[in-house]
Formats: sequence, structure tokens, C-alpha cells
Amino acid sequence: MLEIGVLALQGDVAEHLEAARQAGAKTRISIRLRTVRTADELAGLHGLLLPGGESTTLSLLLQKNAMIEPMRKISGLLGTCAGLILMAKEVEGKSAEQECLGVLDVRVDRNAYGSQVDSFESALEKAGEGAPDLTGKLRIPFIRAPKIVRVGEGVHVLARHPNTGEPVIVQQKQAGKFYLGAACHPEMRTSRMHEYFLTHLQAALETK
Ligand code: GLN
Repeated sequence: MLEIGVLALQGDVAEHLEAARQAGAKTRISIRLRTVRTADELAGLHGLLLPGGESTTLSLLLQKNAMIEPMRKISGLLGTCAGLILMAKEVEGKSAEQECLGVLDVRVDRNAYGSQVDSFESALEKAGEGAPDLTGKLRIPFIRAPKIVRVGEGVHVLARHPNTGEPVIVQQKQAGKFYLGAACHPEMRTSRMHEYFLTHLQAALETK
């Protein structure tokens, strides 16, 4: 049984809950799903989903609730958009008071795909033959999306923007840890990214 939380301070919480519920059913990995708002509620989690929203607001709330340090210890993290920003090691355009987890070795540039009015939907491109197909032909929303401008050595690109080739979904595996981040919002269209997350998180926990 995997204990999975959805950070429910702000952002598209309902979409992540639904994608996780569907992913559990489709992969037949048994999960117990709960929303998380406090440091105490992080206890015992195998995986935590970080929704999109507003990363400054989210990080201020995380700091206020003393959640940053315990979140760094969780085996699996999946973040989309603002959630990716929270996970990133380096953040361009971050406000001075904004503390992030810094666990995923990427550099992101906040809002680099433009402001709210520049939001768009795009199909994604698999990053090479061996890469999983996480979104099929679906058009995935980019909403004030960050750009992934640097990818560290241990980070693998899974999907790219079809026109620019920029990385948009990345993963990092390290001893007993699995991190999955997207600049866009696959959870709004499909549960495939969550299925992939559960499968690989389970594998990471087995090798622990
Ligand atoms: N631009 C937002 C931020 O910096 C993220 C937007 C989103 O999550 N859709 O937090």
C-alpha cells in the first residue's frame, strides 16, 4: 500500500487527486490518498503530489507551516508547473523570500512561456525512442509555465515541446528517491504521468 498525499494549500488540487485515483485503479497499485496541509500530515507518506498554482504563495505557506524540511525526506515527489518550481534546485525570477525544496537538479525560469494571456495548449513530443509516452496525442495546458533551462547530469528528459525541443517533463532517480516534474499540466488531461509516477515510485521503494 502506497501512502500518497496531495499538497492542498493552493492550486489544482482536485485534478491531482482525480489523476492519482485513476492511476491507482489503472496500474492496480493500491494507494491510500489524502490531502496534506500541515507538517504532521506529511508523516508516513511515500509520495507527495505538488499541484500547479502560484509558487511564491505555496512556498511562503510551506515555510510558515515548517513543511520544507520534512518534504525533502519524502521518497517520491511529482510536481507540475508551480510544483516543479518548488522542487527545482535553481529558480530564475524567484522572489527573495521564496524558499524551494531544491531536490530536482534543474534550473527553471518562472513564467518564461509568458503571462496568463499567453497560456496555450500543445501536444508534447516523446524525448527519444525509449521514452515513455506520458500524454499521447493530447494537448496539454501551459499556464504561466516555467521553462526548464538547465538539466543536471542525473536528470532525464521524458518529453519535449514539439516546436522548440525544450524539455517539459523530466525525472530524476537516485537511491530510494523518485522525482518527476512537468512544466505544464498533464493532470488536467490524463492520468498517465501519475501512473508512471506510481510505478516508478514503487520500484524505487523496493530498491531502498
Ligand atoms: N507561474 C506560476 C509560478 O511561478 C506557476 C503557474 C502554474 O502553476 N500554472 O508559480
